Amino acid sequence: MINDFKLTENFNLREFSCKCCGAVKIDSELVQRLQILRDRIKRPIIITSGYRCPKHNKEVGGNDNSYHTKGLAVDIVVKDYGLDELETLARAVGFRGIGVYRIKNFIHLDLGPDRRWIL
Ligand SMILES: [Zn+2]
Repeated sequence: MINDFKLTENFNLREFSCKCCGAVKIDSELVQRLQILRDRIKRPIIITSGYRCPKHNKEVGGNDNSYHTKGLAVDIVVKDYGLDELETLARAVGFRGIGVYRIKNFIHLDLGPDRRWIL
């Protein structure tokens, strides 16, 4: 299967592919840091958004320079795990842009400049 293979112990390339077309482009450092985060929290990480093609990015209301379109961002969900603790750990393993979406209960992580926002 196209793009169906392990990148690390817990992540398959397909998990990062665009929800609309299956295209994928993802930075290796992003995947490595995500695996380190996975090892620390010892729970499954569900990637709700990885790479987004420009069309899909527009459809979901992402901004034009979204790091999702560069393969440098993921949105993740971890069941039964506090967003504050997740944010602290994500920062500790080297994610720089972190968005905490309290109402929708997910966290955005990217390798852009240091930023933090809460919605
Ligand atoms: Zn797409």
